[in-house]
Amino acid sequence: MRRVAFGMLGGLKNCLLALAACTLLWCGAPAWAQAGVAGKPLRVCVLRDTGGMDAAALIRRPGRFDCTTPQHQFGPGSYWAVSEDIDQRSRSRAPLNVRIASLWQQGLTLHVLYSDGSIHSQGTDARGVTPYIQLGAIVEQPLPRLQARVVRLMWHVEGASNLRGILLGARLSTGQQSEHANLSMAALYAGFAGLAIALIIYNLALWGALRHRFQLYYCMMVGLLLAYTFSSSGALAWAWPDIANNTRLRINYLLVGSTGTAALVFARSFFEERIFAGWLGRYATWVGVAVTGIGLFYFLTAPFAIQAVDLAFTCAFVALAAAVVPVLWRAWRLRSNYLWLFAIAWGAPLLTSVLRALANIHILPWSFWIDNSTILAMIVEAIVSSLAVAYRIRLLRDERDDAIEREVMMRRLADTDPLTGLLNRRAFLHQAIGRIGEQLLLIIDLDHFKRVNETLGHDGGDEVLRVFARMLRTSVPQGTLVARIGGEEFAILTPAEAPIEPEALLVRLRQMRMPFDVQVTASIGTCRGTLASEVDWKALYRVADAALFEAKSAGRDRVRHALRDAA
Ligand code: GH3
Ligand code: MG
Ligand code: MG
Repeated sequence: MRRVAFGMLGGLKNCLLALAACTLLWCGAPAWAQAGVAGKPLRVCVLRDTGGMDAAALIRRPGRFDCTTPQHQFGPGSYWAVSEDIDQRSRSRAPLNVRIASLWQQGLTLHVLYSDGSIHSQGTDARGVTPYIQLGAIVEQPLPRLQARVVRLMWHVEGASNLRGILLGARLSTGQQSEHANLSMAALYAGFAGLAIALIIYNLALWGALRHRFQLYYCMMVGLLLAYTFSSSGALAWAWPDIANNTRLRINYLLVGSTGTAALVFARSFFEERIFAGWLGRYATWVGVAVTGIGLFYFLTAPFAIQAVDLAFTCAFVALAAAVVPVLWRAWRLRSNYLWLFAIAWGAPLLTSVLRALANIHILPWSFWIDNSTILAMIVEAIVSSLAVAYRIRLLRDERDDAIEREVMMRRLADTDPLTGLLNRRAFLHQAIGRIGEQLLLIIDLDHFKRVNETLGHDGGDEVLRVFARMLRTSVPQGTLVARIGGEEFAILTPAEAPIEPEALLVRLRQMRMPFDVQVTASIGTCRGTLASEVDWKALYRVADAALFEAKSAGRDRVRHALRDAA
């Protein structure tokens, strides 16, 4: 009962810690939200590219552009996208950048119309927008600095997959705003990378000590999450400037799919086995395979049937996140130790995958933060899971302490004579042999005990044995071994110099009140000697026993001392 209460208290404490960590993260989110999406949002209108269209004419007279139909309704293909009017200068002192979200496309050309009528155009090469990627996977292009004002911007998007839109998240930012945004994102990602690396090292070290498989799965999950963050943040484009941006997007699918599956595998190995028993285990296997499989398919074949594959991926991810519901239900019903930690750890990824799914099927509008929410949610997941790992280790420690306690108790039971509570013969020998220095051995045998039994009955005889044992125990100095080595035969072993007077024991016994006031006496044989080995014990015992026999022969109720040499 105490144990359960402690477990619950510990669980509560950990849950509070986890909640505090989540709150900190989520409270920090608005500050980051400001940072990630720097600058003034630009309204964008689009026009399908039907071929043979003149960019200069389009940017000068954007009247044909559609500003009302949601972009995703246009389907895949090539498009023109024009910004609302800007009327701002881009000079050396306040350079202007245009920032957009990175999306799947074959090519992107930015046209800038200035107030002096000039148009500047800047196209991408085979790498796509890779050279312009900033942290947060923001495509940031500087607008050429002229005396004239920037009137408006127009993009030519070739081969857009148009999964979420054609041109999303367009913003105009000053150089300073961009720097601030990039620095904040760098701090966010660096912080996360540091955390992830620390968690991996720490948990690997713990695995070295404890060797639980779930620890490896945890490291795998955090490692994949780190890789996904590296790719989806755009850092991959910095580390590998020649990579095509579309390749980076393919890698994102592969990694986010694997991360989701790794998280599921971790949860499965972490929970008690019964939670994933039966259909839930099979379901988990299938959605895990589906998410990774579809991610891999996208990686290998995109843009083949890209819209359908993306939808299938979204559905599989929702199905994976949905597994949390029956897992929690079972954990609740089966009284799992990890229910609350799991609920907190997985609440965030569940919520964000629902948000993402809603955004992917266009119920929610696209947002930078929904797009990046998986990372934030998985950070929460990683942190809380590490608390869960710590909690689990705590339970292991409790189990170990219990086992030790039980073992100590078992050993005590195995060492004790049940009737008298004294050491039994085996434990006595175990502790006696190997003692350092000269020892004094007393062998004590109750006189005419058969008669005592006849007078008092067997139970009465037992009581006499108990009373006698208590007397022995309380009459000897600390560190003395007192044992019942036979029916009514006892042994005392003490260092030779210890103040034990066998005669005094007999005097006390004579004075003791026994059941029905029967008079009980005993005879004692003693011998001194060393007890380095079993051979020593046999010799010493033989001599002491001979002395005891002498005492019996001489009329009982007396002590006889013998010398070891007598052996
Ligand atoms: P002696 O003075 O020569 O030692 O005579 P004794 O009767 O004590 O000697 P003996 O060794 O012949 O008998 C010991 C008796 O102790 C026999 C047995 O019934 C009794 N006894 C042994 N173990 C127990 C026990 O656990 N409980 C009880 N009540 N009696 C026991
Ligand atoms: Mg006897
Ligand atoms: Mg006897």
